[in-house]
Amino acid sequence: MDDQVSAQGGRNMTYQNLIGGRDTASSDGAMLDVLSPVDGSLFARIASGTPEDVDAAVTAARAAFEGAWGKLTATERGRLLVKLATAVEAHAEELAALESRDNGKPLRQSKADVAALARYFEYYGSAADKLHGEVIPYLNSHFIGVERVPHGVTGHIVPWNYPMQIFGRSVGAALAAGNATVVKPAEDASLTILRVSALAREVGFPEGALNIVTGLGRSAGAALAAHPGIDFLSFTGSPETGTAVQTAAAQNHVGVTLELGGKSAQVVFDDADLERALPILVTAIIQNGGQTCSAGSRLLIQRGIFNDVVAAVSERFRNLKAGHPEHEPDLGPMINQAQQRRVQSYLDRAASEGLSVAAAGGIATDAPKGGYYVPPTFLAPVPHESTLSQEEVFGPVLVATPFDDEAEAIRLANGTPYGLAAGVWTRDAMRSTRVGRAMRVGQVFVNCYGAGGGVELPFGGFGRSGHGREKGFEGLVEFTTTRTIVIAHG
Ligand code: NAP
Repeated sequence: MDDQVSAQGGRNMTYQNLIGGRDTASSDGAMLDVLSPVDGSLFARIASGTPEDVDAAVTAARAAFEGAWGKLTATERGRLLVKLATAVEAHAEELAALESRDNGKPLRQSKADVAALARYFEYYGSAADKLHGEVIPYLNSHFIGVERVPHGVTGHIVPWNYPMQIFGRSVGAALAAGNATVVKPAEDASLTILRVSALAREVGFPEGALNIVTGLGRSAGAALAAHPGIDFLSFTGSPETGTAVQTAAAQNHVGVTLELGGKSAQVVFDDADLERALPILVTAIIQNGGQTCSAGSRLLIQRGIFNDVVAAVSERFRNLKAGHPEHEPDLGPMINQAQQRRVQSYLDRAASEGLSVAAAGGIATDAPKGGYYVPPTFLAPVPHESTLSQEEVFGPVLVATPFDDEAEAIRLANGTPYGLAAGVWTRDAMRSTRVGRAMRVGQVFVNCYGAGGGVELPFGGFGRSGHGREKGFEGLVEFTTTRTIVIAHG
């Protein structure tokens, strides 16, 4: 990374790919401008990775897998990850500030992301030497062992909404399991991943164990997904791109985890503890500006309390403000202009379908001109079949729909193509178990909502939300396969 003086007189950082342990310009020398969502200003440049760069990164990873990296013991790999966790913690302020500038998150969210990243490295580093195999008592005359082995070279395609966390959970697990890795960060939020990768080099990861190729999804990302030297792919992003990635992976007959979108429901029964629920119902959609796969974007409210809950949520929405990330607003800007327009187009659609806005927040006076701010908006009542109830907006837009009984609540909650997370709010213990277990999602929260959070908790979807699991020990196992060894001794 070089620091240069930008045209605006500030610091304009230039970042190259990391291939085989070296900062490497893209094969054609092309660079991409990085605009800050905070004010739309140019503040960094990244390499625009080419298919040739991806090829060089895969070659470097293969050499590491067959060389220095592959020769380390699980304990040695784990220790390196724990060292990296410590280095991340030591650079927490710097990483958080960089993320807020690059991504637009409120500073507190960036700090939480840094803490989670360090925890992923600590968790997977500590787990590296606990991936035990098993012995199968099949024949008395044979010893039959099943060992857990890494896939080889893994590819990781990361979105922009939680760059550090998603990098940590997938690359941390892959490295702990012994894979060598090639990462394609999102074009809109590559900088913290590049910075953390430089820290990995400093703490002693062998060259080629971790390679980063930045750039456009349609070139660098597509080349990584289709590369015949990749043994396993981890993709987090939209369902449309996930389909393309899985199709490309199928040509090489390799496995993929797809962590895709969501339209997660919060089911509020008439016996819910509303004082406890209300702040969480709002945070679940506002966190990260609604740009969270597991955002609680649909409220399903039992009819008898529908108007009261809508009124209470509306009151909170009216006080919400989007603003400058360094001033700790309720939410920051959207990641880019396209995302800002996408959210607006959903609000226009809602208006054209005659949906009522129950309440809207505002844009803080400190929000710089040129940034991609949108006011948080709450719509109620919204029919279950409407576009706003069925499609992922990926912005600060919440909809509410009434239901009459438990059966209808379950039908509506499961009634989208997605299946990522759900919240259930009730004081009835039997109902909480019954309804919770009826949710066709990867994570259910009862009388709380921390979907997506929790390094230790397996996470992933059903249906259009994807398949495979990341996070927790389950996530570590995904980055391995098995080898069965049968030894005759009779
Ligand atoms: P996206 O457009 O699918 O992009 C995700 C990544 O794929 C980026 O690195 C992107 O590159 C790359 N990409 C784009 N086209 C590609 C192609 N043809 N081949 C290979 N890679 C390609 O998704 P996004 O807009 O960044 O993220 C939002 C979506 O991610 C939402 O649907 C959200 O719900 C989902 N998400 C899911 C989870 C989860 O764990 N389930 C977590 C976070 C986000 P560039 O963008 O750099 O060009």
